[in-house]
Amino acid sequence: MPVMTMAEREQEPDEPLVPFPCADGGGVADGRAMERWLRPFGVYESDLRLDLRSALRPVVTTRVLERCLRGGAEGAAEGEFLWNLTVGRRILALLTLAVAWDGGCIELELRCPEASCGEALELDVTLEELAGIEAEAGARERVEVTIDGRLHALRRPTGRDQLEWMSRRFTDEREAMLWMARTLVRLEEPREPGEMPGLDETPGAGMDIDALAVIEETMSGFDPLVNFVAFVRCVHCGCEHDHEIDLEEIAFRRLRQAQLRLLGTVHRLARHYHWSEQEIFAVPQWRRDYYLALIEQENR
Ligand SMILES: [Zn+2]
Repeated sequence: MPVMTMAEREQEPDEPLVPFPCADGGGVADGRAMERWLRPFGVYESDLRLDLRSALRPVVTTRVLERCLRGGAEGAAEGEFLWNLTVGRRILALLTLAVAWDGGCIELELRCPEASCGEALELDVTLEELAGIEAEAGARERVEVTIDGRLHALRRPTGRDQLEWMSRRFTDEREAMLWMARTLVRLEEPREPGEMPGLDETPGAGMDIDALAVIEETMSGFDPLVNFVAFVRCVHCGCEHDHEIDLEEIAFRRLRQAQLRLLGTVHRLARHYHWSEQEIFAVPQWRRDYYLALIEQENR
């Protein structure tokens, strides 16, 4: 008999699932294509056990996605699947959890950087638009860059790369950036006949601050959700500016709100019915919502 994981034990029937974004990353197991979905976050007791403020964000990202993942392979293989996803896809999956059941729209609150203006700007971006941007960029697995006159191939960072970078100590940001770039860049040109493999064949060796700028520039188009930039025309003064938007932070903010809503549910039901946390989570979500509505009616 297969061992049941916590996620399976917690699975309510008729969960409102949405497809895991960019399903082409699903892979194949036992000769059949993997189908994966996400369930909403902020439903089960296990959703309260995650510290969404933790600085170990790549780890928390994997934990959140792991909990909400449905379908796919058994157990540990799913962790591997999530770690091997590119950072951009992991962000898209987090954003899906954050807004897919709530209109699928992300409201961005920006401010015009023009000194004479400084007015607040509102911009709506849909999950569909972001998925489109990610899918278009993701069609290419690597991109070519010329560093020191030699052709190199650049790939996107994955969750696993982030984990590896986290385990290292760097003296400053520049050193960290150089290291990150080195792990993503490979020499593409074949060696000349008779040329011995030399130090300069070390991935990204000889990379300097100029090379770093080229890589950053290339990455912005190649991996657009990681350092997301929206080009916005101010409705007040007409000026046009690039706005850097931290999509991961936006997703985490929404997930923290979902966690707080669930805590609020526990609090109200416990106070009203004197149920323990365990008793509350034994009640399926639709019935909890019904009880909450009744409590609200009584309080009116
Ligand atoms: Zn303006």
